[in-house]
Amino acid sequence: THQVHIIGGGLAGSEAAWQLAQAGVKVRLSEMRGSGDMTPAHQTEGLAELVCSNSFRSDDADKNAVGLLHQEMRRLNSLIMAQADLAKVPAGSALAVDRDIFSGGVTHALTEHPNVEIMRERIDTLPVEGMTIVATGPLTAPGLATSIGAAAGMDHLAFFDAIAPVVHFDSIDMGQCWMANRWDKIGPGGGEGKDYINCPMNKEQYQAFVQGLLDGEKADFKDWEKDTPYFEGCMPIEVMASRGPETLRHGPMKPMGLDDPRTGRWPYAVVQLRQDNASGTLWNMVGFQTKLKHGAQIDLFRTIPGLEKAEFARLGGLHRNTFIQSPKLLDATLRLKNARHIRFAGQVTGCEGYVESSAIGLLAGRFAVAELLGRPLTPLPADTALGALLGHVTGNVETADYQPMNVNFGLFPPLEDVKKKQRKEAMTARARASLGQWLNAELQPA
Ligand code: FAD
Repeated sequence: THQVHIIGGGLAGSEAAWQLAQAGVKVRLSEMRGSGDMTPAHQTEGLAELVCSNSFRSDDADKNAVGLLHQEMRRLNSLIMAQADLAKVPAGSALAVDRDIFSGGVTHALTEHPNVEIMRERIDTLPVEGMTIVATGPLTAPGLATSIGAAAGMDHLAFFDAIAPVVHFDSIDMGQCWMANRWDKIGPGGGEGKDYINCPMNKEQYQAFVQGLLDGEKADFKDWEKDTPYFEGCMPIEVMASRGPETLRHGPMKPMGLDDPRTGRWPYAVVQLRQDNASGTLWNMVGFQTKLKHGAQIDLFRTIPGLEKAEFARLGGLHRNTFIQSPKLLDATLRLKNARHIRFAGQVTGCEGYVESSAIGLLAGRFAVAELLGRPLTPLPADTALGALLGHVTGNVETADYQPMNVNFGLFPPLEDVKKKQRKEAMTARARASLGQWLNAELQPA
């Protein structure tokens, strides 16, 4: 006799279950591990198992967006953060944990909770009724993935992410680049035909860049990633470069139709960046999905004219990753628009990372509590880390091609009147004040 069914006992599902249970709601938590099933990355039957690194990244709440997210989650009584703090190991300013103590602590807290019933079972179809939270992660079992695809539209479900690097606008040297569309074409949305940032390269720069792609150290594919045929739409840029020295000049680095205003001519090659969020603080490098190691990406991409001092909000990557086109499919409280009894949470919504997945689990749990108990729901302020992350997932993103992202300051509303040096601290201070006001409003009786 549960009131909410949560599918997936990973980071997001465990956090959502805790938020509901603590509010007095009865939860059924279905986790397939422990019933004979396993994902290719998990190794235990513990809830909230960390599949790779043992780090929750920076714990600095003054200068770091993920550190701020930690702090906000602690203020909202997060189980994941409480157990991470208990399982903490020394890691400088980062929060790293003993993974067994952490997962053991989460499992214990939920097993002991009178409002949580943990079922070791695999769910293969989306429930047709009853409030449900789907938190099955980047390695959602295939049966359920098919069912999600049927509900969401197969073309709204991705099995891989193809992530191109994203750059903070204020770190681009616009003195070297210019804004223009190819052939100055005006897009369907109108405008002046100046949507892209273009970084020009001469022949020597281009050739050195192609060589850098070929020589750069690459991250390995995992065995279970190797044979999945995903190269069609999103081939890594270095694989394209390996097909011949001119391939990129006829592909993503094509200069045709792009007159450099300083010369009046097309450069030898061009790197284009396209706006990645509504406020224009983030720009992604078009066609630059890559398996280059992160250090190699930073070194090489900073050789691109205009990007010498680029700060990356996200580096490129390619992984197996099941996620839905959340900005199109979900409403502001993470419900599937065409089946509102179903919420999504965690990495399957297209956030990225342990902390972010847990944070979206926390919000899904709280939204479900509010809906069930008929409590009014004040929207989260967009200038908090939770609000900024939720904005990425549920709708601020203007790009047609939605890809996963970690929380970062580029997702926050800009603060232009503050000097760059003080901006991070000003943003975190603003966030703390906003969350405080939001919490006060939440505590007022309706
Ligand atoms: P998960 O934690 O994966 O939880 C989903 C749960 O659902 C699992 O327990 C799974 O067994 C269960 N499940 C799946 N299908 C079904 C079903 N049909 N029925 C019942 N249960 C089901 N992030 C980082 O921050 N740092 C890292 O180092 C990192 N490394 C990663 C490495 C890999 C290989 C992958 C795939 C991802 C990595 N991530 C990392 C990204 C992400 O943070 C983690 O995947 C994170 O665990 C996502 O949390 P989640 O709750 O959304 O999903």
